[in-house]
Amino acid sequence: MEFDLPDEHRMIQETVREFCRGEIEPIAQEIEDDHRFPEEIFDQLAELDMMGVPISEEYGGLGGDTLMYALVAEEIGRVSGSVGLSYVAHVSLASKPLELFGTPEQKERWLRPLAEGEHMGGWALTEPGSGSDASDMDTTAEKDGDEWVINGTKQFITNASEAGSVLVKAVTDPGAGYDGISTFIVDPREDDGFEVTTVWDKMGLNASPTCEIQLEDVRLPEDRLLGAEGEGWDQTKKTLDGGRISIAALSTGLAQGAYEHAKAYSQEREQFGQPISQFDAVRDKIVDMHRKTERARLLTHRAASRYDQGEPVTRESALAKLDASEAAREVAEDAVQVLGGYGYTTDFAPQRFYRDAKLMEIGEGTSEIQHLVIGRELGL
Ligand SMILES: Cc1cc2nc3c(=O)[nH]c(=O)nc-3n(C[C@H](O)[C@H](O)[C@H](O)COP(=O)(O)OP(=O)(O)OC[C@H]3O[C@@H](n4cnc5c(N)ncnc54)[C@H](O)[C@@H]3O)c2cc1C
Repeated sequence: MEFDLPDEHRMIQETVREFCRGEIEPIAQEIEDDHRFPEEIFDQLAELDMMGVPISEEYGGLGGDTLMYALVAEEIGRVSGSVGLSYVAHVSLASKPLELFGTPEQKERWLRPLAEGEHMGGWALTEPGSGSDASDMDTTAEKDGDEWVINGTKQFITNASEAGSVLVKAVTDPGAGYDGISTFIVDPREDDGFEVTTVWDKMGLNASPTCEIQLEDVRLPEDRLLGAEGEGWDQTKKTLDGGRISIAALSTGLAQGAYEHAKAYSQEREQFGQPISQFDAVRDKIVDMHRKTERARLLTHRAASRYDQGEPVTRESALAKLDASEAAREVAEDAVQVLGGYGYTTDFAPQRFYRDAKLMEIGEGTSEIQHLVIGRELGL
């Protein structure tokens, strides 16, 4: 679908591609090995106006659409899953809900610094005891005078250790089911009782911090409630509709990156007196890698375009996420295979893509949950 991208989109794509090649790719393995969040990369992305691509200019964003944002996420994914994951969590999960559901004052105070890249943002839904069944949460927010008091534990929260704001989901009305959940804006640096208790070691994506956080009697003024009381679950569904497009875009980038490494290697590596790309088995693998990547991209761009037209995207974003995450894992696995023994070493990128791609089938709703969502949309 790249052939019919508008000029402005193509320009942004080229700018980000060049930045990713020049600045991120050379350190992509090193930040993984060191488990280091690359703050300087996000500062540079902020200088390029990339930290708020789909956020309105009024609040410090670029004012681009979802398709443009998907292109940026794909380019980052093409070189680093870690940078990509922290980036999409910042934009889709931490920033977009503030734009969609915040008051003008909340947007000024909390959205602007995110969109301008002053600091990172996080979004805290998952808990130790509730993941796929996310509404079954234990975190509570109780009213005490004109303050909210939050207590609970959140699990696997991207960026929490680096964040200047985290959107926290909590139960405000225990008897009301889905309508008893609300969203709160928490300042990890200023609000007493907020603590990052663990930064997880993972099989991949180790330059993107994945945190457990503890909230102990965190007292918040009333203006930290995002939207109305009881709207937290509805906001979650809308946030994930957009968020899944960004995971699909990131997955497409991982697939593209892995495919490119494998293709280039297959044309250079010789065995039995010829480049290995000349063997049918290798060529067919690379053709299939290309096919899967293109299909993932088309589904992702379709979902993004529909989102931009204001159409419902629950089915399209789940389809894109399901397909692209599977493509990323399969293509990355094949890339390791095409590189043979070298593919299994950390001197070559495919192993990193393979480990990073696996998360895409888990985060923002597992593949099993995407099947459930799509089945429901099909009326099954
Ligand atoms: C690196 C990383 C970053 C993350 N970032 C964030 C973040 O920023 N914010 C946040 O809130 N969360 C985040 N998460 C959490 C992530 O969204 C959850 O891990 C995910 O939704 C799955 O939940 P779970 O881990 O509790 O697995 P579970 O829900 O316990 O699932 C375990 C298995 O059971 C299957 N299963 C569960 N229910 C069903 C069902 N009804 N039908 C069929 N199969 C089912 C699942 O598909 C899975 O295979 C992150 C996780 C990771 C690993």
